[in-house]
Amino acid sequence: MVEPVICAINPIAGYESTTSLGASSSGKIAVVGGGPAGMEVSRVLAMRGFSVTLFEEQHRLGGLLNIAAKIPGRGEFAAYVSYMLRELKRLNIQIRIDTLATADTIAAGGFDFTICATGTVAGAPPVDGVEMSHVTSAYDAISLGLQDLGDVVIIGGGALGCCTAMYLTSQADSVQIVEADEALGVDLGRTTRWVILKFLKAKNISTQLLTEVVNIDSKKITVYQDEKFHHINAKTIILATRPQPRDRLLRQLEKKGLKFEKVGSVKRSMNLLDVIHSAYEFANSFELSQT
Ligand SMILES: Cc1cc2nc3c(=O)[nH]c(=O)nc-3n(C[C@H](O)[C@H](O)[C@H](O)COP(=O)(O)OP(=O)(O)OC[C@H]3O[C@@H](n4cnc5c(N)ncnc54)[C@H](O)[C@@H]3O)c2cc1C
Repeated sequence: MVEPVICAINPIAGYESTTSLGASSSGKIAVVGGGPAGMEVSRVLAMRGFSVTLFEEQHRLGGLLNIAAKIPGRGEFAAYVSYMLRELKRLNIQIRIDTLATADTIAAGGFDFTICATGTVAGAPPVDGVEMSHVTSAYDAISLGLQDLGDVVIIGGGALGCCTAMYLTSQADSVQIVEADEALGVDLGRTTRWVILKFLKAKNISTQLLTEVVNIDSKKITVYQDEKFHHINAKTIILATRPQPRDRLLRQLEKKGLKFEKVGSVKRSMNLLDVIHSAYEFANSFELSQT
């Protein structure tokens, strides 16, 4: 059977003849989180007639795509964010940047419903030393453009660790990835995994697989590999373990008895295509009367 083409950022591409915009509706909706999930939900709800206010804690919309766009070969994510910003403005969505939405913000706004697209926070391995000053999250390592990194060890060789290594090859003296699994980038998409692994190989990024980190101190990390403990010297340690759902607001809303639903990566780990497509589907079938 011939499969229709699909597009990560345009959920109806390939399905134009079978998909239509959900019924017109009305209601006052708060969307929290201006990453791709929150932007797509806001866009589709506004097209259907809802009055939408989009809250974003950072100074600009885009969420993790603003970080992803700095990785070699990922610059086009920035164009997507610019396009969405234009669309959201055209649809008269109230955009509140620099605003951390809390349950109080939501309650004061008199919204009929809240959609939480709050994304993830960086994960950290449960070992001593993660709080030290030379240890930083992958998100910060990329977004803050840290200098003078010296020899770097990245803890975590999934999609985030591999992308971080790609970015840091031009900033660090050396980059090494430590991964507990038996392969690198197992959560990378099949169309990009081979390109990224080829890039890392060409840049001589060394990788330690089947290796558990047991401790971090100021000049080295201790790892357990092949039933022995080893040391790896490093000036900078980057944490790139699996991100965790950012669910604080959800707990606050629950406590206050306010109605909400989750979309995007706060709901479960997923790639960008699934983030945008599931946000579209949610917003296109959303009915206030069924909440
Ligand atoms: C370096 C890197 C490279 C990547 N490369 C790829 C790739 O090649 N392919 C791919 O499929 N995916 C990639 N990703 C993953 C992709 O960026 C994420 O899947 C996607 O951004 C998740 O979207 P989201 O909207 O669910 O969450 P996010 O993008 O995390 O957005 C959540 C937003 O909510 C805001 N927020 C949270 N709480 C509040 C609050 N209380 N009030 C106001 N605002 C709040 C945050 O500030 C954030 O802007 C990459 C990620 C990184 C970090």
